[in-house]
Amino acid sequence: MRLDVVTIFPEYLEPLNVSLVGKARARGQLNVHVHDLRAWTYDRHHTVDDTPYGGGPGMVMKTEPWGDALDSVLADGYENGSHAPALVVPTPSGRPFTQELAGELSARPWLIFTPARYEGIDRRVIDEYATRMPVYEVSIGDYVLAGGEAAVLVVTEAVARLLPGVLGNAESHRDDSFAPGAMANLLEGPVYTKPPLWRGRGIPEVLLSGHHGKIARWRRDEALRRTTAGRPDLIERCDPKVFDKKDREM
Ligand code: SAM
Repeated sequence: MRLDVVTIFPEYLEPLNVSLVGKARARGQLNVHVHDLRAWTYDRHHTVDDTPYGGGPGMVMKTEPWGDALDSVLADGYENGSHAPALVVPTPSGRPFTQELAGELSARPWLIFTPARYEGIDRRVIDEYATRMPVYEVSIGDYVLAGGEAAVLVVTEAVARLLPGVLGNAESHRDDSFAPGAMANLLEGPVYTKPPLWRGRGIPEVLLSGHHGKIARWRRDEALRRTTAGRPDLIERCDPKVFDKKDREM
């Protein structure tokens, strides 16, 4: 997968060099390019923003640097054999970022991120590129950040761990919170490791039983308990068919 990020703070994307994403890059599973938007400004001050039409506080990011930057990124990607780009526009007014959307994005071969600053990017830029490729306007939560770079890091990490071969154990995300399948939309329950006794605290007996069926059932019950307590809205969104008689008695 190819990822391009156009930003006025390239250094903000340094975490893309470490941990899971950094390793995926080193292994050639992710091809990441971070670009400085100011490279496509031609005035002495490298201006990327201007006052908003209609007045009001704050500044708006200008069309020309974004248009030139995106044209150049697209030309480079196509020249190097990438295809089917999609634009990912972080914005508080976007579609809420979920595990489902992470899965959707992970199936695309090429994502181009446009993290903004100030009051955002002149709308015409998004409308222009929407005529050429899918545009995902994505919000990472109901709060306002100073810029979209942190959102890019969030989306990239969630997407990268779904790419084939990126996680050491391909099964690792099967039981994750929000994963589709048997745990459909439930949060993952508590997890434990050695030692078996720590400060007088043991671990649930069933986890030592070696009985796979009982362990799976316990994990499911704990997931259901945790989701009911912390996120009842997720339970309401579950397909009723995922619950069995024992679940309903809980
Ligand atoms: N005035 C804008 C509004 O109220 O929607 C907020 C602009 S914010 C200060 C600057 C940039 O940060 C946004 O254009 C976007 O790129 C990014 N951003 C802020 N909050 C975000 C969120 N919750 N999800 C994704 N991106 C966000």
